Amino acid sequence: RSKDEGGGRHFTYEPSLHAHAEERRQLEFSLRRALERNEFTIAYQPVVDATSEAIVSFEALLRWNSAEHGFVSPAKFIPLAEDTRLIVPIGEWILRESCREAMNWPSHVKVAVNVSGEQLLDPNFAASVVGALSTSGLPANRLEIEVTESIFVRDGTAAQATLEQIMALGCGVALDDFGTGYSSLGYLRKMRFTTIKVDRSFVQGAAKNAAESLAIIRAVVAMADSLDMSTTAEGVETEAELEMIRKLGCKKIQGYYFGRPMGFVEARGLFTRPSFQRQGAAA
Ligand code: C2E
Ligand code: MG
Ligand code: MG
Ligand code: MG
Repeated sequence: RSKDEGGGRHFTYEPSLHAHAEERRQLEFSLRRALERNEFTIAYQPVVDATSEAIVSFEALLRWNSAEHGFVSPAKFIPLAEDTRLIVPIGEWILRESCREAMNWPSHVKVAVNVSGEQLLDPNFAASVVGALSTSGLPANRLEIEVTESIFVRDGTAAQATLEQIMALGCGVALDDFGTGYSSLGYLRKMRFTTIKVDRSFVQGAAKNAAESLAIIRAVVAMADSLDMSTTAEGVETEAELEMIRKLGCKKIQGYYFGRPMGFVEARGLFTRPSFQRQGAAA
């Protein structure tokens, strides 16, 4: 069909746009019903101490098995949940559910929950954290909230105020995916995070001896140490990455090498074994 044809444009460009919008509309339709249909589950991924390899926490990761769409990746449905603000009730659900589950773990093991900007800016957020803690009985210091740098873009002052309320309760606040967003050291001066999570891309780079990744991790660890913040390396998959990250002095490690995100039964099972087994390479 010729481009000059009046209606050609219409037929050339719109079908894919339309298909995309239609897919999104259907996904949203299903997402609106997912909570009441009990389609969400939580996968727990262990975070271990870099020296002792003992489990220090689990990160709670949302999983959606949709009746209409099957398993949908968080990379796809989390942004949609954020755009539609469905992340507010869904986020409250995972917060309550994971605090409740953490009560089944040894009392030194924390739970980390991801929180989007939409949730932080919701006026009821702090109250929902208080509610999740009091209903479950989980001490505040066993809950860590994970946020990304993106929360500081829209309304940094409000986001910071809410995070400070959460920290005043005794909860930790981790800065997730550090180095991938609109990195600014400005908010590190204003806010004392509990932990900085170094993004997997730097971990991979360091293991390949990329000078930039090595230098950045070294600098982040030094800065975190002197500001009394902990560091977690994300996405450690191989022995080589583990050794490099250890050498660089990251305090905690998360990644397939030690454990993939798993169901609550399997997560609980890690504590009944005599010693924690690495399971990444084979899993
Ligand atoms: P995140 O918070 O950075 O979580 C870590 C992601 O890296 C998880 O992906 C995890 O499965 C994956 N991962 C962990 N270790 C490795 C590894 O060794 N190699 C590789 N290749 N990947 C690894 P997942 O579960 O698909 O979640 C993706 C993102 O979705 C999360 O990134 C987080 O930003 C968001 N998310 C997940 N659950 C929630 C939630 O309940 N609320 C909100 N607001 N966001 C969530
Ligand atoms: Mg996270
Ligand atoms: Mg992360
Ligand atoms: Mg990451």
